[in-house]
Amino acid sequence: MQSKKELISYWIKHEIIKDQKVIEAFKKIPREEFISKEYLSQAYGDYPLSIGLGQTISQPTTVMIMTEALEVKEGHKILEIGTGSGYQAAILSYLVGKKGIVYTTEIIEELARFAESNIKKLNIRNVKVIYSDGSLGYKKAAPYDRIIVTAGSPRIPEELLKQLKPSGIMIVPVGDLLSQKMLKIIKKKKLEIKDLGNFTFVPLKGQYGH
Ligand code: SAH
Repeated sequence: MQSKKELISYWIKHEIIKDQKVIEAFKKIPREEFISKEYLSQAYGDYPLSIGLGQTISQPTTVMIMTEALEVKEGHKILEIGTGSGYQAAILSYLVGKKGIVYTTEIIEELARFAESNIKKLNIRNVKVIYSDGSLGYKKAAPYDRIIVTAGSPRIPEELLKQLKPSGIMIVPVGDLLSQKMLKIIKKKKLEIKDLGNFTFVPLKGQYGH
């Protein structure tokens, strides 16, 4: 798959993505603006691409599965752990709209700057990139309607759960370094946890990471 159109028809045909707004976000945000020039022709290949420093921009299908599972609404305040290229944050910014905001944390300073410049290029104003250890969350702006972790965590991140609103949703890949289960967690009195399947992410680092 090498085009936006092909990816979208694949998702619809196999009922991988059903939410029209999520598809609209994918159409509106140019993935090619978040990758280095050498990979331009592969912008819509369905695989992760290197963004340097040992990190990757996740494959389009994974980004969209996580986005749909997050059940984003206009006006939401979202926290992302693992900014990387800024692409996932940009997709979320489209879904929360002008009244919403996306805080995204990145532990590698150079990538935080890379993401910031990608987001600025596209004139997106409701994303704040924070260079910090996101395994600790971002208390300053807590609590959040939604939290999304785009790096593999060794366990369910307790600190992040604390920063999630009641009935809020967190998507987080949990497992060892080789493979993780993508979990959808709804913060009820007793946590509701759904397993969305096996994936492989780069490891979550920092205090509560690997
Ligand atoms: N969401 C990104 C891809 C994420 S790759 C995108 O759309 O492009 C995972 C990223 O998480 C990497 O950039 C890595 O440096 C970052 N990361 C790892 N541990 C982290 C931590 N504790 N806090 C913040 N970022 C972290």
